[in-house]
Amino acid sequence: MIKLDAMENPYTWPQELLDEWSGIMADTNVNRYPDPAANTLKERLREAMNIPQDMSIILGNGSDEIIQMIAMALSGPDKTVLSVEPGFVMYRMIAVFCGMKYVGVPLKEKDFSLDYDAIKQAITEHQPAVVFLAYPNNPTGNLFNREQLISIIKSAPGLVVIDEAYAPFTDESFIPLLGQYSNLLVMRTVSKMGLAGLRLGLLAGPAQWLDEFDKVRLPYNINVLTQKTADFALKHQAVFDAQTTQIREQRTVMANALQQMDGVTVYESDANFILIRVAQNKAETIFTGLKAQGILVKMLSGSQPVLQDCLRITVGTAEENSQFLSAFQSLI
Ligand SMILES: *Cc1c(COP(=O)(O)O)cnc(C)c1O
Repeated sequence: MIKLDAMENPYTWPQELLDEWSGIMADTNVNRYPDPAANTLKERLREAMNIPQDMSIILGNGSDEIIQMIAMALSGPDKTVLSVEPGFVMYRMIAVFCGMKYVGVPLKEKDFSLDYDAIKQAITEHQPAVVFLAYPNNPTGNLFNREQLISIIKSAPGLVVIDEAYAPFTDESFIPLLGQYSNLLVMRTVSKMGLAGLRLGLLAGPAQWLDEFDKVRLPYNINVLTQKTADFALKHQAVFDAQTTQIREQRTVMANALQQMDGVTVYESDANFILIRVAQNKAETIFTGLKAQGILVKMLSGSQPVLQDCLRITVGTAEENSQFLSAFQSLI
């Protein structure tokens, strides 16, 4: 299958990198437990992601595990997690699994921007222990208004976690603001930059908060192969930068091509995927037709009313994208 459904980086590594990495793996003693604090890797990530020296870092087995740690640490009767809809599904699922209440504030239907008044009102009403906001958002791809986010951070009674899973594909970030607001935390992952198989995410922010979350982190949650591989990969950041540059270029190519097709609405994206809306009641036929031709995209139509007739396409290689575009064109 041409996999354009899960925001994976389509590129593998050059042979000389694979050879060097195999050597490192062969020298790794898997009979020993990993470094429980993963200090070498944390410092590598701090440097790669420009995390200020006075901010703490904790690592998770994917950022999904970090969401779970935050929810476990903050859970209790009448504790609320607040986010937006449509948004990243794990915020709601993990809140529910941890026995917390979940409030999802609808985004504006026209362009999936923040409904600022509604979110401010929901914060006042529900006093959330934590607000999760993905920046750019998934599954819509857009960046929310920065000033509005800052105002939300200032007025929220609890934590605000800005989830920057798509950082490699945008120039915007809240990392430079860490420390300015005591309730601001930034979450990142290496998944979308090209290391989804490793399962590694990180949370950066003030030690007062992260020291508490660290108490619910399971020991050795980052295995030794992930620690060594991520450290090695980040030493070769240029390889991944070149790959993400290609993906960003291809995103423009894809968006332009889709925009020219009749009856297709293309939403703005700062991520490595594009959300589109097709003609009424055509999404299922198009999804099935693509699949029959070996192309897998994400079917969103039917998941919730505002995503009616929507599909989400991950940006692949130039070759994959052009195969998708011609199959899609013939199906519509
Ligand atoms: C993909 C994604 C994640 C999950 O990241 P992992 O580190 O792979 O668990 C987190 N947040 C958002 C918004 C995502 O789209």
